[in-house]
Amino acid sequence: MLPWKTYDAMCRAAARDPEGFWLEAARRIDWAQAPVAACRSRPDGWHDWFAGGTLNSCYNAVDRHVAAGRGEQTALIWHSCATRERHMLSYAALQRRVAGFAGGLRALGVGKGDRVLIAAPCMVETAIAMLACARIGAVHVVVFAGYAAAELARRIDDVTPKILVAASCSFQGRTAVPAQAALEAALAGAAHVPDACVIVQRASCPMRIDPRRDHDFHALEGYPPVPSVPVRAEDPLYILHTSGTTGAPKGIVRDNGGHAVALALSMELIYGCGAGDCFFTTSDLGWVVGHSYGLYAPLLNGGTSVIVEGCPSASVIRELCAAHAVRCLFTTPTQLRLMRQGGAVLSGLPSLRRVFVAGEYADPALLDWARSSFRRPVVNHWWQTETGWSITAHFLGLAEAASPALMNEIGRPGPGFAPIVRPSVAGGRSGEILLALPLPPGCLAGVWKEGALRPPAPYLDESGAWYRTFDEGLITEDRAVHMLGRSDDVIKVAGRRVSGVQIEKIIAGHGQVHVCAVVAVADPLRGQRPVAYVVPAAWPAQVAWADEIVARVGQAMGRWVGLKEVLFVRQLPTTRSGKIMRRALAAA
Ligand code: AMP
Repeated sequence: MLPWKTYDAMCRAAARDPEGFWLEAARRIDWAQAPVAACRSRPDGWHDWFAGGTLNSCYNAVDRHVAAGRGEQTALIWHSCATRERHMLSYAALQRRVAGFAGGLRALGVGKGDRVLIAAPCMVETAIAMLACARIGAVHVVVFAGYAAAELARRIDDVTPKILVAASCSFQGRTAVPAQAALEAALAGAAHVPDACVIVQRASCPMRIDPRRDHDFHALEGYPPVPSVPVRAEDPLYILHTSGTTGAPKGIVRDNGGHAVALALSMELIYGCGAGDCFFTTSDLGWVVGHSYGLYAPLLNGGTSVIVEGCPSASVIRELCAAHAVRCLFTTPTQLRLMRQGGAVLSGLPSLRRVFVAGEYADPALLDWARSSFRRPVVNHWWQTETGWSITAHFLGLAEAASPALMNEIGRPGPGFAPIVRPSVAGGRSGEILLALPLPPGCLAGVWKEGALRPPAPYLDESGAWYRTFDEGLITEDRAVHMLGRSDDVIKVAGRRVSGVQIEKIIAGHGQVHVCAVVAVADPLRGQRPVAYVVPAAWPAQVAWADEIVARVGQAMGRWVGLKEVLFVRQLPTTRSGKIMRRALAAA
């Protein structure tokens, strides 16, 4: 039960006494040694959370629920869109498998602080490997299973893992993609050599095993179970590489203590979910949402988590929600667009309370479609890999109800997040959003560089006092944050700045637009001009639609914006995690 009734009351409590606020929040976690302080400055200039406290993240996510008598409750439900398999695992079964696999890792010499690189799709074994690392104080580094050899080799050299865990194949749609070639090439290309590889053999596409190097994942689960070991709150739980939207991928380091506290609080405060509730995220375990809300947060709070391999269709989402009484669904705008395109009907899910969206810009028309289709509140919130949980949100665990119009925006700052806008032009209202330091618990503990944890210098502004989000927006009097896109997606037309996202919002209101992206191209006269790439709702696209889109934008924003080119395309380039790659379009 939350101690505050309204958002304002929560903000007042967090501002008046941050130490008291976070130590109180920390009571959601079982500590081996309770922390005596919340935030502490580090000699390197960054900060630690809950220093002095010791805990184990796996114990908090698994064992304590078994100890509380809920061992028979389902912890994980896994569905593969590729193979159509489905597995359900109780907390007791999860504990057995994780403790056994942790024993296997130990037998391979993995200890506290060692990195274990996990290159596997979203599978039960991936979750088991992550939790097993946490159990023995090792650091998991999950990388997308479909990476080419060079990308995998780069990450192997970045984190120098003791052990590499891989699946024998991943899937593209329903087609198996064997992992062997990329794995061998990555190991040959990397300077660092892991001690051993652990292979999850998949029935559809097993892999040739090298007995001198490789171990079978399921055989390692048979090792004598090992108990969880307490680690310091500030010890790293995992490293996760950013998608590289702001330069080369950076290894974001997450701690144990702050992460557990922030996620446990967020489940109540933002998602309104508690023990026994079923939470379904469509994100792959390899992305931050999969780490935070596919695995840790639902389990920390004793819930049931539904995870999926591959991209679920609307009918799979509907069926999973119905069969497992899903209470909260967390998905992306891309996934919603796919559902809309397929004409999905998603109403009639009595257990479903809310749908959450994050990851990229979601236009109001899409959110309104989702609302009418699910007949439930559809709630947008703003996130980064670096922050690990939402910077701004709607606080649905509190009594205050947000109106649907406000929900189209990304909400208001969470506790401990203090955003300001640095105006792009003197006297302007919009600009890059900066966050005051210290960042709240759960955010990055630093970046992994040259074999060690470093303060996140690339994210600090020139004064060193603010964290740069590299996102543009504005903040209104009611503290609602309005997102205008990545700083580098802003278009400068004859010296005037215009947000591509703002133009996209207007284009998305045209009934024939499925999805669109607006990018800047060089213009000899005005420096830059916007060009719109549009995937129409139906082919063939008609010339008249392009004229209507140009007219719409001119009417809504003024002709100075200068949108003249509307290019109809079959699809837009996306990142591995499904985000539109505007930069690739601009370079085309
Ligand atoms: P990633 O770290 O790959 O998850 O990407 C984080 C970026 O995604 C943010 O910096 C934003 O640019 C974008 N993003 C996340 N959530 C939202 C949202 N609700 N609306 C608009 N953009 C978002």
